[in-house]
Amino acid sequence: MSAAAADPRIAGGRLTIDLDALAANYRALAQRSAPAIAAAVVKADAYGIGLERAAPALAAAGCTRFFVALPGEGVKLRQLLPGAEIFVLSGVFDEASAAVMAEAGLVPVLNSLNQIEIWARFWRARGSRRPCAIHVDTGMSRLGLTVDEALGLAARNGSDHAITPILVMSHLACADTPDHPKNRTQLESFQRIRQAFSGVDSSLANSAGIFLGPEFTFEVTRPGVALFGGVAVEGIENPLRPVVTAEARIIQIRHVRAGETASYGATVTLDRDTVIAVAATGYADGYHRALSGSGVPLREAVAAGGTGFVAGHEVPVLGRVTMDLTLFDITDVPEDAVTEGDWIELFGANIPLEKAAKAAGTIGYELLTSLGRRYWRRNVNSTGSQ
Ligand SMILES: *Cc1c(COP(=O)(O)O)cnc(C)c1O
Repeated sequence: MSAAAADPRIAGGRLTIDLDALAANYRALAQRSAPAIAAAVVKADAYGIGLERAAPALAAAGCTRFFVALPGEGVKLRQLLPGAEIFVLSGVFDEASAAVMAEAGLVPVLNSLNQIEIWARFWRARGSRRPCAIHVDTGMSRLGLTVDEALGLAARNGSDHAITPILVMSHLACADTPDHPKNRTQLESFQRIRQAFSGVDSSLANSAGIFLGPEFTFEVTRPGVALFGGVAVEGIENPLRPVVTAEARIIQIRHVRAGETASYGATVTLDRDTVIAVAATGYADGYHRALSGSGVPLREAVAAGGTGFVAGHEVPVLGRVTMDLTLFDITDVPEDAVTEGDWIELFGANIPLEKAAKAAGTIGYELLTSLGRRYWRRNVNSTGSQ
């Protein structure tokens, strides 16, 4: 984040981050996970809210185990939390990356026999061993050893002691769809793996997986998006609190005649005299172009596009979202209720993250992690003070 963006006097957008809600969400997920331990997944800069704020707040709420996607994220997290156990989902790429991870005391999640060999060779050369996690692919066709490779490894490793796994894990493809048969088949594969690695902690559930029931939680759960207020499973009541409110400053208010068009491509013709709030956010800030009120042929999810919330009213995006600016139709908001310089909410307290995401044809995860670097980020506690 640049210094300019951090200066509230001149920022075009602001993010209000409720760390009490984050801590409460962690505690709620930990309680649902019990007797399993809830780790926290803080990859992608803690889902866009900022690792340097999220990690200490989670640690203060009692979290001691963290997952990140890449070694660089682990190095940054190590500086914030010297005593935490930090798992790196990418595993090691080669000897050089193993050295960086060793120095920072990170635990690689090893995803292939090749990665296992890299880590084992690195420590063999130093006459030592260090903990690692093993990731088994039970149905994502993404990262991980095959089930057969993992079973073979478990049988061999007892004798040659090449590595010291402290966690064996897998990842669910369809946890957000509780009735999907894949949840059951992945669970059954994972149970076989777990038996083969007896005495080693095991982990299967992401946020949504925690809500599938107690047989999915094992010893460790790995919630990510639910910590940050995202809806893990559609259709169930979200017991978690929103953490982020995103707003943009209204920098101009326009009175435009019926018959005029608005924004690039002239994709909307005004059918009435219209009051337009021009807000300082755009796709460069992660306010996706797919949220445009019109003129985005590929979006099929929601015809009407995104909405903003200002002066107690939900108002539609008008025409295309542009790089730095978005137009909102505030004709229905009483005159004088909004003035230039006011903030309009993009999502958060009044417009659920999921609703904004759906309007963009995407998911809350993507809206959060694409929040740009131009926002002024401020912490707030739930009572409203900064
Ligand atoms: C991102 C990720 C998680 C967290 O998933 P959420 O759906 O955000 O809870 C857990 N495990 C793995 C392997 C992941 O990649």
